[in-house]
Amino acid sequence: SQDRVFNFAAGPATLPERVLKKAESELVNWRGSGMSVMEMSHRGKEFLSIIQKAEADLRTLLDIPSNYSVLFLQGGATTQFAAIPLNLCKPNDPVDYLVTGSWGDKAFKEAQKFCKPSVIWSGKSEKYTKIPNFDSLEQNPDARFLHICANETIHGVEFKDYPDPRNKDKILVADMSSNFCSKPVDVSKFGVIYAGAQKNVGPSGVTIVIIRKDLIGNAQEITPVMLDYKIHDENNSLYNTPPCYGIYMCGLVFEDLLEQGGLKEVEKKNIKKADLLYKVIDESNGFYRCPVEKSVRSLMNVPFTLEKPELEAEFIKEAAKEMMVQLKGHRSVGGMRASIYNAMPLAGVEKLVAFMKDFQARHA
Ligand code: PMP
Repeated sequence: SQDRVFNFAAGPATLPERVLKKAESELVNWRGSGMSVMEMSHRGKEFLSIIQKAEADLRTLLDIPSNYSVLFLQGGATTQFAAIPLNLCKPNDPVDYLVTGSWGDKAFKEAQKFCKPSVIWSGKSEKYTKIPNFDSLEQNPDARFLHICANETIHGVEFKDYPDPRNKDKILVADMSSNFCSKPVDVSKFGVIYAGAQKNVGPSGVTIVIIRKDLIGNAQEITPVMLDYKIHDENNSLYNTPPCYGIYMCGLVFEDLLEQGGLKEVEKKNIKKADLLYKVIDESNGFYRCPVEKSVRSLMNVPFTLEKPELEAEFIKEAAKEMMVQLKGHRSVGGMRASIYNAMPLAGVEKLVAFMKDFQARHA
């Protein structure tokens, strides 16, 4: 609608207006129940129908095999940085981390408290602009798992395919917080996929974990009950009070993604949007620059710098005047970042691209 901005925030991020309107229409009285989803018992039949439908739709979207559990948890992806080693490792188990940006680095650092992780490759010295050739990786055969961050939200580096884990149990673990449900994924290649919802699929407060069932049930003794996958799995994510409204919103987004034709269609739209944006950057004769190696540029987070950094504040100010907000890069890297998740309409990217061309013409 007229009064909504194009919100390029990295997360919490823009949601489909259709979904917000639907939630609005059901806010006060959910489908004749006489109450809002926020007011329902999480054990009542109404909420059970909501969480079960959300899970079923997510299973359809990602074609999740039946030997995987889907958990709707709390605590953000950050909590999973600890939960994963706590559930998968003994304290002395070695684990491999491939660090392609600051989120992977945070996951590694947290794991140091609960197992014996090693960084087998880091892109830090190249300012996190690359993903290594998988054949050259020296994986530890005794590692319990190999951890990657499938899309580094701050640096805009995205895996386009995945390394084969060469540890003895062939376990690959991926943080998909910022590209979850943005494209089809072969879930069977992973031991665990986890994601905070607040970028592509809902509001903050919900964290989704997709885990192969045989990896559940081996948590370290010190594991808090809230971090034990077995507890959540046995209780269908209802061990304690879940983030009910957030799960409901995720469910509405899953329905919307299915109505769009599923993740293959969603991916096509995402490629089209990202191509537009990278093209204007690459064809700007250096006025704009994206430092990320072309083959691993993210479809979701597009970081770029201005040749004349003194123009950055002006860029942001003028964009905001035209209803395009949250374009400032992460405080750790500076520059700009346009996050263009599933819910960013093509019209938003077209408007940004037109603005960028115009801004360049006026300031080059
Ligand atoms: N991993 C990635 C890739 C992220 O982008 C973020 C949040 N920006 C996190 C982890 C941390 O997520 P949360 O804030 O949900 O704990």
